[in-house]
Amino acid sequence: MNSLSSTFSPVAGWNPGSWQQRVALQQPQYEDAAELAEATGQLAQLPPLVTSWEVLALKQSLAEAQEGQRFLLQGGDCAESFADCTSPVISNRLKVLLQMSLVLVHGLRKPVLRVGRFAGQYAKPRSTDTETRGGVTLPSFRGDVVNGPEFTAEARRPDPQRLIQAHAHSALTMNFVRALIDGGFADLHHPEYWDLAWVEHSPLASEYRRMVNGIGDSLRFMETLAGPIAGFTRVDFFTSHEALLLHYEEALTRQVPRHKGWFNLSTHFPWIGMRTAALDGAHVEYFRGIRNPVAVKVGPSVTAEQLLPLIEALNPDDEPGRLTLIHRMGNAQIAKSLPPLLDAVKREGRRVLWVADPMHGNTESTSNGYKTRRFDSIRGELDQAFDIHAAAGTRLGGVHLELTGEDVTECMGGARDLSEADLDRAYKSMVDPRLNYEQSLELAMLIVRKSTG
Ligand code: PEP
Ligand code: MN
Repeated sequence: MNSLSSTFSPVAGWNPGSWQQRVALQQPQYEDAAELAEATGQLAQLPPLVTSWEVLALKQSLAEAQEGQRFLLQGGDCAESFADCTSPVISNRLKVLLQMSLVLVHGLRKPVLRVGRFAGQYAKPRSTDTETRGGVTLPSFRGDVVNGPEFTAEARRPDPQRLIQAHAHSALTMNFVRALIDGGFADLHHPEYWDLAWVEHSPLASEYRRMVNGIGDSLRFMETLAGPIAGFTRVDFFTSHEALLLHYEEALTRQVPRHKGWFNLSTHFPWIGMRTAALDGAHVEYFRGIRNPVAVKVGPSVTAEQLLPLIEALNPDDEPGRLTLIHRMGNAQIAKSLPPLLDAVKREGRRVLWVADPMHGNTESTSNGYKTRRFDSIRGELDQAFDIHAAAGTRLGGVHLELTGEDVTECMGGARDLSEADLDRAYKSMVDPRLNYEQSLELAMLIVRKSTG
């Protein structure tokens, strides 16, 4: 079935603001309702960031991933920041994702669906509403779309003008990514465009070069036979973010002339975070009415009895490509927590795309106060995820990672065996620790080894 022409049924009792009748967790307390209404009104007039055509094309590709014909690579920063909306940060992140996808295409022998955690990943859930330092209590930093990270009353005040700024920075990011891709940056004939300078001395460089050369040889061989192949000069890239701040998402929820229903046109592929996935909560209410493909993070405390009604609420018609479940259990919990969920979904015959996030269940703090993740735990969870799906007769159809193209030292371990002491060298994340370039590539190689036995 082609979802571009898929049937559409209106969603009963829903409108873009119906979430406001439910409990909305993780929202900032704006001081002035009129100021907020002014900003959301302005946002609602601004052009969208993506189109319904692209959204439906992605849904179709996700349906193919559900059938095992594609593998999803979803990755990017834990949180984007306005300050990092720069040429090198954006292009380096794209380079890492392109290199990983090259490794995956080469090894898995199937198309890779590339989805960035970018062009809108500006809102963060927090474990507490306030933060206290030296006897002073201020609102927690909730991401650049809400407030500033500096510990001052001025910076931490939730500022509705930031909604407009987040839209603008998303558009700038999107514009640059689209221009790079359309301009030939993602041409498979020129993987050297994606090289990152500091990688030359990497222990992984020679294995990567071998793959690149293998792909180059195959391309030249096919083109000798068939002439230039257009599809290899550009790749598709889609965007995603946690649709946490519902005032922002509502203002970018639109109807379009060519397709029925409502689309969230701030991103192709929004997801619901683990902390806001309650069945009767505002986020599930908002998500149930939009036509985008959607994802939900599933943590170790979720039971089959909780998951099945969530699937029913978000995908009552069992539409292909509509629902992705991203499990983020932790290396120590996945063997116990995941199998009952896989069994229940399989037993009920529900169509979902299963994706592993091996990052968020493996966060820990070091004695010197850094939030970090061990590469071995990340690798261990991913390793187990493949085995658990194989044993359950289900399919792991993708990965969801926090990574950056910058030479950071935020996660420990990996090919260079970064230690606790190394974290001091280049720890830049304001939120969760990200895989650096080398650790990301190593993980891509691991995925290939696991899936090809
Ligand atoms: C995240 O993806 O940054 C995040 C907060 O994840 P989770 O909702 O799975 O904890
Ligand atoms: Mn995170």
